[in-house]
Amino acid sequence: MDVTPILDGLNKAQREAVTADNQALLVLAGAGSGKTRVLVHRIAWLIATENISPHAIMAVTFTNKASHEMKNRVESLLGRSASSMWIGTFHGLAHRLLRAHARDAELPDTFQILDSDDQLRVIKRVMREMNLDDNEWPPKQAQWFINKQKDEGKRPKDIQHNGDLFISTHTKVYHAYQQACATGGLVDFAELLLKAFELLRDNQHLREHYQERFLHLLVDEFQDTNGIQYAWLRLISASNCGITIVGDDDQSIYGWRGAKIENIQRFDREFSDAKTIRLEQNYRSTGTILKAANAVIANNQERMGKNLWTDDSEGEPISLYAAFNEQEEARFMAARIADWHQQGNAYSECAILYRSNAQSRVIEEFLLQRQIPYRIYGGLKFFERAEVKDTLAYLRLMYNNQDDAAFERVVNTPPRGLGQKSVEKVREMARIDQSTLWEAAQKIVAESALTPKATAALSGFIELVKLGYEEFHPLPLSEQIQLTIESTNLMEMYAKEKGEKALARKENLAELASAAREFDVEDYPDLSPMTAFLAHASLEAGDTQAEQYEDCVQMMTLHSAKGLEFPLVFIAGMEEKLFPHMMSMEEADKLEEERRLAYVGITRAMKKLYLLYAEKRRLWGKETYPAVSRFIREIPAQLKEEVRLNSQLSQPVFAGESESAQGANGFNLGQFVEHPKFGVGVILNYEGEGAQARVQVNFDSVGAKWLVLAYAKLEAC
Ligand code: ATP
Ligand code: MG
Repeated sequence: MDVTPILDGLNKAQREAVTADNQALLVLAGAGSGKTRVLVHRIAWLIATENISPHAIMAVTFTNKASHEMKNRVESLLGRSASSMWIGTFHGLAHRLLRAHARDAELPDTFQILDSDDQLRVIKRVMREMNLDDNEWPPKQAQWFINKQKDEGKRPKDIQHNGDLFISTHTKVYHAYQQACATGGLVDFAELLLKAFELLRDNQHLREHYQERFLHLLVDEFQDTNGIQYAWLRLISASNCGITIVGDDDQSIYGWRGAKIENIQRFDREFSDAKTIRLEQNYRSTGTILKAANAVIANNQERMGKNLWTDDSEGEPISLYAAFNEQEEARFMAARIADWHQQGNAYSECAILYRSNAQSRVIEEFLLQRQIPYRIYGGLKFFERAEVKDTLAYLRLMYNNQDDAAFERVVNTPPRGLGQKSVEKVREMARIDQSTLWEAAQKIVAESALTPKATAALSGFIELVKLGYEEFHPLPLSEQIQLTIESTNLMEMYAKEKGEKALARKENLAELASAAREFDVEDYPDLSPMTAFLAHASLEAGDTQAEQYEDCVQMMTLHSAKGLEFPLVFIAGMEEKLFPHMMSMEEADKLEEERRLAYVGITRAMKKLYLLYAEKRRLWGKETYPAVSRFIREIPAQLKEEVRLNSQLSQPVFAGESESAQGANGFNLGQFVEHPKFGVGVILNYEGEGAQARVQVNFDSVGAKWLVLAYAKLEAC
């Protein structure tokens, strides 16, 4: 085959990486240098020139969306299908393996995946049964403990507690939780990875089978793999397996979830013949953006060190905008985006990034006001919305009666007159009999162990689930979903909610049916369509929805932005305590991780970057006057410019010309004022009018600050 398209559009170092015949290859390079592009081209190269069958290739990406894109790009380079290739996230691939070998993994064929919400629900129940007090032993902490152990490959028996009550108690919870999951045929996210690892570790026959099959393993975003993922990769790659990893130590941002940058060094050590290739040219961003990113990350000590340059033009300066508060910050972004769109650009080329999910609500309000379409990416995912989860829980229970988490979720949703007491009886029965909630419920109905009304309600619930399965399962997926929504009265329940919310829920449920219609069962060859769909719903970030094809602004956390790029990027909330996050400011290594996150954020921008901060923000329920983020200060002055609203208002508003402001406030340039928090300062500058009027004051304590007059409580002194 003609390999020109595969090698065209690659620089020398990229070509070297794509065509390398080394068994182990490490591409270590900064943001936007073409690492992902190298992976795509290398896969195509292996298939086209080395006659490697797609069947013998496994590729790992960080998100589902990235795997779909990678597969499409490989196929378009090759001009043919590569569908037998295994490509997905670590979780997706582990799931695929467990489905194919459920029995060997000691899982029921119908096992279902617990998302972290469901997981917490099960943990809570287990802890209640153990009589552990919620306040003393917060279930979230137990969840964190369990997942951490799993990420490190540990089962309860492997944990040493040495008399430590925290560890020994949580180990007991872990043990009991595992039992509850085993009875229910439930597998959480961390368990997917650990089980898939154990499956291959403990089953020589299977291990050899896959080791023979996969001749090439390729991993994107390697810097964010955790211990168990690394161990899994080692297990599946036999001595003759080619392994290519690409990553950037400066973009490791999941340390808090157990990811280990050291895996890069470890790889280098353990694969002794590994060749390292560095890519140094950035193709994504303007010179200014790149310089800013390099300057920020240079403040980190723990770095492997790299060069990154671009031959793109310097481009525009980075715009800083000091908003009055978070509302005004959002209003500013909405206005800029409206201008951008008016100039003929697509909304989808623009991203708003933020440190914390909670920031999105205010931004949404202002986008809505301006009728700017947007989509929240990776926030509350489609499949995580309450109405969608309720519907899916019914379906899960129909297909797997053992699913306790699903049972708990819908046994009294919509309300059918089963109070906490009745449900507690069911739990107790299950505890005594060591059975599932479903079995316990049946027994309770048979024995009429509840009040007649509650017994009837419980029996109605059981019949509803049973009948649902019997009647619906031969039908197409989307019809099953539609009928489930109707027969369970979920829609009726939501219709009772107020206005917009009810409408949104209705639309989401319609969307669920259409997602099922479009669902491609081919990705899950050996499963019944509904089991496949339910698994897909737990694993997918909901990013296959139709919405993604619409032209809308992309909103997401900085963490979810990894690997992506946009011509226009806003980073909102560049303030100390918010970003870097308060929880990470005290410890050097956590602060370095925040800085890497800033590096990730800045390097998402191709042409234009706005950094925003507010002088006043409601944070965690309190009014705060944050200081500007150190990451802004770390950007050299010549790369940034302050944006001022109404710059035509360069004439003093308080110096006499404007009677209203003068009359109302009586402040003048050069005047000394006192602020309740910052103390005494002198007025340097001012702008805006009325409610938006603000002044710049040089305080003795904190230096120059812009303050909104309406809020600042300044007093003349
Ligand atoms: P990140 O670290 O953010 O994941 P990356 O190193 O994976 O970035 P890519 O996403 O592969 O970088 O590439 C960044 C951009 O540069 C993409 O738009 C890509 O198409 C483009 N690009 C990469 N290499 C070249 C090249 N040789 N010629 C032209 N464009 C390129
Ligand atoms: Mg990439």
